[in-house]
Amino acid sequence: MKKIYIIDVTNRDGVQTAHLGLAKLEKTMINYYLNKMGIFQSEFGFPVTRHEINYLNANLQLAKKKVLYPIRLSGWLRAIPQDVEQSFKNVPGLEHVNLSISTSRQMITGKFQGKMDFRQVIREMTEAVDLCREKGAKTIGVNAEDASRTDLEQLIDFAGAAKEHQADRIRYCDTLGYDTPFTIYERVYRLAKEVQIPIELHCHNDLGMAVAVSLAGAKAALDAGVDAYINTTINGMGERAGNADLVSVILAVKYGAGMAGTYQLDERINLQMAWKLAHYASYAFKVPIPINQVGVGQNAFAHASGIHVDGALKDRRNYELYDFEELGRGEVEIVETGRKILLGEYSGIKGLRNVYGKLQVRFHDDEEAREILELARYANVHKQKPLVDDELLFIAKHPEEVKLLLTVTP
Ligand SMILES: [Zn+2]
Repeated sequence: MKKIYIIDVTNRDGVQTAHLGLAKLEKTMINYYLNKMGIFQSEFGFPVTRHEINYLNANLQLAKKKVLYPIRLSGWLRAIPQDVEQSFKNVPGLEHVNLSISTSRQMITGKFQGKMDFRQVIREMTEAVDLCREKGAKTIGVNAEDASRTDLEQLIDFAGAAKEHQADRIRYCDTLGYDTPFTIYERVYRLAKEVQIPIELHCHNDLGMAVAVSLAGAKAALDAGVDAYINTTINGMGERAGNADLVSVILAVKYGAGMAGTYQLDERINLQMAWKLAHYASYAFKVPIPINQVGVGQNAFAHASGIHVDGALKDRRNYELYDFEELGRGEVEIVETGRKILLGEYSGIKGLRNVYGKLQVRFHDDEEAREILELARYANVHKQKPLVDDELLFIAKHPEEVKLLLTVTP
């Protein structure tokens, strides 16, 4: 039976967005939480970008040690041979890639401005795919940027060429959030039926339909007999009005009418991490979670009006479609109201011992304590905000990789 998988692109689409950014340790923590959530793949960054190199290599080391495993970590690059060369030079352990190139007439004339026509787009892409395979890539996704505004026959040719060159998936990019559930269903169904290649849905929220459009596209792919991979971001963070929100997409596949029981979601997905991950991303991006955010907002399970309260208390199914416990909600959070010792970029060893003591972490000797202190200081330099407990624990557990990912040399 064909399935719906999730590829989260927070560490790529999310961080390339205006006003948004993440420190390398924060990107790593997001990969860590996504892995705990059973997410199939994280598009973890840009192997051509120099300041990403140490972070990407450190995360691949963590993957080798099974810390970031079984999640797949995939790099995003342009589908041109020189980017492929550079990527594998910078990040030799790269196994999963997504190669991106524009396919619509608008982009080819408006962006390439005569430097490339559609035939050349296909040639660049297939050369890049071949080169990736030569360099040892295990899976290759090919992104058709602006697919939703691409002539469908041309898109079918493009996907057919990618398949001929053994690409594993085609990413249907609704780059401008232009599709509606009706149009994407028809287009993706036709594409998947003709080419028989698994389809990724990459949908933006410019018309407020990113989740709906992603779902319709995934349904079309499965109806046409291929697997679907929905691209999401945590809290919907992404270019302009954002991408399809991770938690919303999972809940929609699990509980949406006509989806539940008919279409199979990757069974490794476990929503228990949802609350924690959404709040971590909110803290890391410095973007508050809206009160009415799906599943993880303050009001998602709040009831005040008489009729609703009465109904919800009699039987939660009267006014709740799914349970808060499933999303990892319901635990009481302890907030320190008295003295608080924090670790900052100028902290000393006493502060370190106090903070880690509360987390029940003991150091073997002074040397180890000093090493962790140094890493915590540098992490603060990167983040410019206090470290959270999970980050502190992560630093103490994986000092070698943390040291590498904190190293940024221009
Ligand atoms: Zn995007």
